[in-house]
Amino acid sequence: MSQLKAIPLYRLDLAGNEIRYMEQALECGKISGDGPFTRRCEALLERQLGASKVLLATSCTQALEMAAFLLNIRSGDEVIVPSFTFPSTANAFVVRGATPVFADVRPDTLNLDETRLEPLITPATKAIVVVHYAGIPCEMEAILKIAARYNIPVIEDNALGLYGKYRGRFLGTIGSIGCLSFHQTKSFVCGEGGAVCLNDPLFNNRAEILREKGTNRRKFARGEVDKYTWVDVGSSYVPSDLLAAFLYAQLESCSDTLSRRRRVWDYYNHELSAWAVESGAKLPYVPPGCEPAYSMFHMLLPSAKVLEGLLQRLNRNNIAATFHYQPLHLSPMARSFGARPGDCPVAEDISGRLLRLPFFTSLSEGEQAEVVRVVEAFRPARAVSGMARVGRA
Ligand SMILES: *Cc1c(COP(=O)(O)O)cnc(C)c1O
Repeated sequence: MSQLKAIPLYRLDLAGNEIRYMEQALECGKISGDGPFTRRCEALLERQLGASKVLLATSCTQALEMAAFLLNIRSGDEVIVPSFTFPSTANAFVVRGATPVFADVRPDTLNLDETRLEPLITPATKAIVVVHYAGIPCEMEAILKIAARYNIPVIEDNALGLYGKYRGRFLGTIGSIGCLSFHQTKSFVCGEGGAVCLNDPLFNNRAEILREKGTNRRKFARGEVDKYTWVDVGSSYVPSDLLAAFLYAQLESCSDTLSRRRRVWDYYNHELSAWAVESGAKLPYVPPGCEPAYSMFHMLLPSAKVLEGLLQRLNRNNIAATFHYQPLHLSPMARSFGARPGDCPVAEDISGRLLRLPFFTSLSEGEQAEVVRVVEAFRPARAVSGMARVGRA
């Protein structure tokens, strides 16, 4: 077994100005929320994405909760979510009393299957939440068309898709509300953080109030009212300006970060293509007209057994590859809402065969070459027949 330096799944990469901006936030003495760096992040995101309004939040989970608030989700409502996602996609609506309805995913993009969406819609459906898995866009046009027919808003859980594009439009700006994540495991980070993109001006006023504890403090800060007071329900979804300062450094260098991540993605995609064909593995599928966000790199292996063998091989070589989401409709919580095995056969099939490779901005070509070498040395057929031995790998 080789004793090379460990290659992690992700690494914290600083863009350069994080500490300087955090010092500036300290110097100006304002480290609570909605300070100068929060405003700068929001304005920058609005400009970069062409979004009409962006508000920072404490996480993508909380951004999704804000969306559920803004749609007045309540007990008895149904919300359609893909089964192949993180629990927050559903939970943000469930905490407001909604019943999650699980949609199966497409076998190619692993995104909500638009051809299976319509039969799930009932008079109780109050939202359709889509996830751009691995930063690869959903079929937004078809989804929006179906949603419009029933007058149901579409929410984008865009935790993985910041700066990805669908037919020229940035992900997160296409549905009624887009939710972003700046959690440490994503592409642009501040530890814990998120944002909402409000793509319908209808939500602007109420969103400002509910993230500021139900007060009109933001109006007050703009000088539009002479004192602020309790005007609506609300909570506290405002991140510290210290974290916004960190985030601003990450966002201002987004084009450099994106091109580096694109190089990492292209390298895997190119170097593993011949092996994938030979081994019956599938590399990520990007539909025409779509630009991925380069947030991660995954592949689908021919069987769960092959996944297990390759995972073991990579991990034994100090490479931190891993699997991803378990189908949400099979979770104990989903089962309590009546979801059953067999409801989403594609999600059930692919989740046990999906492998994620180390992926981060500073992943070097040398590190990637090592990952590729270990993957290529793995021959699924030998593993399946039980003849695989831990050789040089
Ligand atoms: C990471 C992730 C979330 C949660 O993001 P937080 O900012 O940690 O709340 C939600 N949905 C998806 C699809 C994610 O990948």
